[in-house]
Amino acid sequence: MQLLDEFDGDPGRPLQAVCLRCDAPRTVAWTAVCSGTPPCIRCDGARLDPDAPHRVYLVLFAHLGDVGVYKVGITHCVTDDRLRVHERSGGVVLDTMQVRDRATALAIERRVLEHYLPAAAVALRPDLLPHGGTTECWSAHAGRPNLSGAAAGRPL
Ligand SMILES: [Zn+2]
Repeated sequence: MQLLDEFDGDPGRPLQAVCLRCDAPRTVAWTAVCSGTPPCIRCDGARLDPDAPHRVYLVLFAHLGDVGVYKVGITHCVTDDRLRVHERSGGVVLDTMQVRDRATALAIERRVLEHYLPAAAVALRPDLLPHGGTTECWSAHAGRPNLSGAAAGRPL
């Protein structure tokens, strides 16, 4: 968020501001800035809004397991923070697909996991991946899903 008005010493006066991510304008008082208001109602709202678009993603961790592991997950569409976290853990983001809401993303994730986990679940130390992500991994020998195909209901 960038303030367009100068702070004039009145902490309660609304100031014009703009979001640096999506350019949405807003007015915000200095007191709200100081008390940790979300930087942008639109962006930070969409991050939590289950009806906002979400993404399903596929990451390869080539250094885990015997032959590498795939992980499927979901995230919002506001930032790539979650994907960057996996990359910092040594993952390569192979695919992302945007869908209309969180429930749709979860359904695709579940479909992929139900296909791969029974045959190729891997036991990884939970601290190897952030956010407990090891439960969403399977051994790469079992194959790589086509996310758009999974979303369209085609066989994996
Ligand atoms: Zn924004």
